[in-house]
Amino acid sequence: MEKLVIKNIGMILSGKMEEPIFDGDCLIAIDGKILEWGSEKDLDTEDATCIVDAHGVTLAPGLIDSHVHPVVGDYTPRQQQLHWIDSTLNGGVTTMISAGEVHMPGRPKDIVGLKAMSIAAQRWYENFRPSGVKVHAGAPVIEHGMVEEDFAELANAGVKYLGEVGLGSVKDGKTANQMVDWARKYGIQSTIHTGGPSIPGSGLIDADMVIETGSDVIGHINGGHSALPDDQIICLCETCTKQAFEIVHNGNERAAVLTVNTARELGKLDQVILGTDGPAGSGVQPLGILRMIAMLSAFGNVPAEIAFCFGNGNTSRQRDLDVGLIEKGYAADFVLLDQAQHAPGKTMLESVVQGNLPGVGMTIIDGVIRSERSRNTPPAQRLPERIL
Ligand SMILES: [Zn+2]
Repeated sequence: MEKLVIKNIGMILSGKMEEPIFDGDCLIAIDGKILEWGSEKDLDTEDATCIVDAHGVTLAPGLIDSHVHPVVGDYTPRQQQLHWIDSTLNGGVTTMISAGEVHMPGRPKDIVGLKAMSIAAQRWYENFRPSGVKVHAGAPVIEHGMVEEDFAELANAGVKYLGEVGLGSVKDGKTANQMVDWARKYGIQSTIHTGGPSIPGSGLIDADMVIETGSDVIGHINGGHSALPDDQIICLCETCTKQAFEIVHNGNERAAVLTVNTARELGKLDQVILGTDGPAGSGVQPLGILRMIAMLSAFGNVPAEIAFCFGNGNTSRQRDLDVGLIEKGYAADFVLLDQAQHAPGKTMLESVVQGNLPGVGMTIIDGVIRSERSRNTPPAQRLPERIL
């Protein structure tokens, strides 16, 4: 039995918008799953196999990047970059969701080929986790000619997500809606490319097509990079009652703030989730999710502890994951962070709401320490330490 005890926690962020901060200074995980948390004196800390002294820093569920374009291992051909996933782990991200392995050179677009590649990609990231990061990949981009059986076959083979609708040949709402419905019938979640074309070869998807398609996630509602006009973004926020409003780092920052302000006014902040949309033409953003949390907290009038929920708990709920929330039985995936050295504000949360990044001191995945002081964030004031 592996027993992880994290003590002297300064603050526990829960990932839950309805109660973003939990009481307690200690958390216990058994065999990679959260068991309990609270005051150390009330918990059974005996027989630990690993003890972390948090030295007063904040513990949060590991961040989730809802929108990445991985290809293979920890390498992206898009920007010829190695170890971008490890770099992102250093930004507090412990789970990533593929929106399509679209940067694979020679990506097959015939139906048997695209199915084969999706299944292979799902497998190679299931079998190999770069630096321990959970990459949910194998996200096929739908093409004309696919039939219901194809979606059943993909689901049976372990595919759980569609790549961005609109990046393939299907660019009309009627066909897209039919395929998204087939996918959903077999338990496959869908996302759609929203806004103008991202790179030569992709196209415009406007609010009408997003609504007609009815995908589960409104992928980069703030554009990737070119955003829809304001009235269309507001229309999507008003019309869509369940779908995730996914805001990405590689999108339009002004449209991101508009989305959050609109969602807040509508009482729909629980639909806001975050991604980077990297690797892409804009590059790779190891700190992308933290940067979005700070930016949206600062410009969107959102308390920092709520903005953190956009980057973990909301995504967990929208995407039906067992990570991203402090919840019994959920994966023991955490990021430990503290106010950055010399950042203004009395607390970590106060520094974030002023637009500053926190410093990451440690990441833990499935109860195992995966990284210590981040090589990418500004240095944290205090650092957690493994003492057993
Ligand atoms: Zn896109």
